Amino acid sequence: THQLEIRDLHVSVGDKKILNGVSLVVPKGELHAIMGPNGNGKSTLAKVLIGDPEYTVESGEILLDGENILEMEPDERARKGLFLAFQYPVEIPGVTIANFLRLAMQARKAEGEEVGFMEFYQKLTHALEVLEWPESVVERYLNAGFSGGEKKRNEILQMLMLDPEYIIMDETDSGLDVDALKIVSKGVNSLRGPGLGGIIITHYQRLLDYIVPDKVHVIVDGRVVESGGPELAKKLDTEGYDWVKELANA
Ligand code: ADP
Ligand code: MG
Ligand code: MG
Repeated sequence: THQLEIRDLHVSVGDKKILNGVSLVVPKGELHAIMGPNGNGKSTLAKVLIGDPEYTVESGEILLDGENILEMEPDERARKGLFLAFQYPVEIPGVTIANFLRLAMQARKAEGEEVGFMEFYQKLTHALEVLEWPESVVERYLNAGFSGGEKKRNEILQMLMLDPEYIIMDETDSGLDVDALKIVSKGVNSLRGPGLGGIIITHYQRLLDYIVPDKVHVIVDGRVVESGGPELAKKLDTEGYDWVKELANA
């Protein structure tokens, strides 16, 4: 079973219950959008997927290709091919993008296996071409003085270099102008295919004009209350979220 499966997930922070039984199946090869009003648990889901220790999983399972990942540390999940976009928004003084990318790629290798220079360089050249970035950018220090758009482009660069099997993108589009949005989408779309699955969390439909999802799910009050095709995102865009909030109360 090549899929990311979330089974009846209940999550809390402190004594506050946030997710109230999320169930979701994303087959490898598909990108699913998760939409929903603010404050209803979308980011919490992303953080639990990646293993943020602040969140307590009360019950439920997350199966990656059939394997429960809830007991795994974040780096182990990453080695299994899970990639959370924007997990490194920090500036790391003294580390260039090139160094960082090599370290990140190395971290995904099995012990004793090296990232070869040719493998690194060919991937890098390709990724920079997709992202319309000059090669010189990789000598810059990670995120130092980067604009919001550049930071996101850099995160997509990491994504392209790491060849993830499942991606989780949380509000990647927030604060992006249309040009940056197009480049970010181009990067994601270049990875699409039978070997990539994932979840794209977004409050607005705009991003989904560029990354057309296979399915759309709406989370309200910590549960998936509605699922559909890309047309569901359009409906939310024109009609707002009131009608799905009513579904949650029904
Ligand atoms: P969304 O991404 O849909 O906007 P979040 O998952 O960020 O929603 O948040 C859902 C709810 O959980 C909100 O009420 C938020 O304040 C609360 N929450 C999320 N993370 C924490 C945390 N670390 N501590 C306390 N409350 C949190
Ligand atoms: Mg929020
Ligand atoms: Mg959020």
